[in-house]
Amino acid sequence: MSTALVLFRRDLRLADNPALHAACSAHDRILPVYVHDPAADGDWAPGAASRWWLHHSLRALDQTLSCQDGRLHIATGDTLTCIRQLCAASGARAVYWSRRYEPAAIAHDSALKAALRADGIEVHSHSGNLWREPWTLATDGGQPYRVFTPFWRRLRAQLPAPTPLPIARARQWLQADGGLPVAALGLLPAIRWDAGMAAQWTPGEAGARELLEIFADDAVNDYAKSRDLPARHGTSRLSPHLHFGEITPVQIHALLQQRAQQAGGASVRTSSPICANSAGANSPTTCSTTSRTRRRRTSTRASMPSLGRRTPPPCSSRWQRGRTGIPLVDAGMRELWHTGWMHNRVRMVVASFLTKNLRQHWHHGARWFWDTLVDADLANNTLGWQWVAGCGADAAPYFRVFNPYLQSAKFDPDAAYLKRWLPELAALPARTLHEAWKNPSALAACGYPAPMVDLAASRQAALAAWESLPSA
Ligand SMILES: Cc1cc2nc3c(=O)[nH]c(=O)nc-3n(C[C@H](O)[C@H](O)[C@H](O)COP(=O)(O)OP(=O)(O)OC[C@H]3O[C@@H](n4cnc5c(N)ncnc54)[C@H](O)[C@@H]3O)c2cc1C
Repeated sequence: MSTALVLFRRDLRLADNPALHAACSAHDRILPVYVHDPAADGDWAPGAASRWWLHHSLRALDQTLSCQDGRLHIATGDTLTCIRQLCAASGARAVYWSRRYEPAAIAHDSALKAALRADGIEVHSHSGNLWREPWTLATDGGQPYRVFTPFWRRLRAQLPAPTPLPIARARQWLQADGGLPVAALGLLPAIRWDAGMAAQWTPGEAGARELLEIFADDAVNDYAKSRDLPARHGTSRLSPHLHFGEITPVQIHALLQQRAQQAGGASVRTSSPICANSAGANSPTTCSTTSRTRRRRTSTRASMPSLGRRTPPPCSSRWQRGRTGIPLVDAGMRELWHTGWMHNRVRMVVASFLTKNLRQHWHHGARWFWDTLVDADLANNTLGWQWVAGCGADAAPYFRVFNPYLQSAKFDPDAAYLKRWLPELAALPARTLHEAWKNPSALAACGYPAPMVDLAASRQAALAAWESLPSA
């Protein structure tokens, strides 16, 4: 009887899981394992919202396994030590896992692989949560893609996409002694601020599938129109499920393709953003540094003198709490706090406000997002912040400063999003909110704070600071 250990990390699913599938095909007995090893995440251990998600996702995976008479073995501590002990106890001579793509994770997994192989244990790493491995897609010059559109064009040229693998079934799921309950990992907050997240999300493979079905029913013909409207569920909201590997881009693409064909078209346009995180993985050095040399120099000087400081300066606490006095910024920050998620357009607006109007370093915003987003993802978060701050790998114009009033008038015309998250302003007409600078007393009468900064003046100051810098 051959035995293999399958190490789950950010691939918390049984379907379309190439590593698990390969292990189940090649071995009689499978020991499914999750090792909680925060030290291995270095600077980027999961934040509070991600830990909440992880707790529920691990429970969901355990429940799914229990439907096949298996249990997820949960351990905590150094990954190598735990795997060595489990291999010795179970007789496993092979270990399988899905690849991860962040710089620290690659270094960790390479060392793990070398140590296990030195012990005489086979290690099989498989494609994880990406449609294509990052190193299989390059520009004509052989460089990683930095801009999404040409990357997406090249990817589409390689369609048809792979077919999703079925739910893996082991001949026998093995259990080892000494496994911990999920609760022992202490992932839930001590003070229970998570009610809003619990009301909104169902972490786990089944929750991901349900959300995908809803999105596919509603959005195949409507995504292009509604994806920018924060009041609508016009986007998939699959980002946390994708981050934790509860669903894959391949599964999403396959279902959307099927629905589009049933609807009489053959469009795959809806899937394009789903592949964006592959572009992130193509820029593995960007997590804390700024991508372009010229922009690095400018962002360092123009944004903040406090580059690299972990503690945000005091003026950003109003931004964090949704008390800036700028309605769209505050609505977004409160949505983030209550649900662990924020609409993409609003992420751009609040990030622009912090980095340009308040001239804080993008690190401060990225760190806050890291702690509060359920979909906090090193590649997507870093590249998102750098793009808005104008110092990323792609060609975002640094001089673009989002105007929150124009953005809300355009993308939330009836102010449904603003009123949902700023209930104290719900009685005011939409126009009053979109033109709040003309109506300060109306907003003040509702107990809403005055703007912490003048948008026009702070925009001019930011642009002047940029212009004063050397361009090379
Ligand atoms: C400042 C800033 C920070 C961000 N931080 C994160 C983060 O930590 N984690 C994260 O997953 N996304 C991040 N994004 C990207 C984007 O906002 C989210 O992916 C998107 O809002 C998720 O919603 P959705 O699943 O409904 O997206 P959909 O529109 O349904 O797209 C499906 C999937 O495609 C990917 N995607 C969509 N838009 C983008 C984008 N602009 N950049 C990269 N991937 C994208 C995501 O995986 C997403 O789940 C950030 C954007 C900005 C501007």
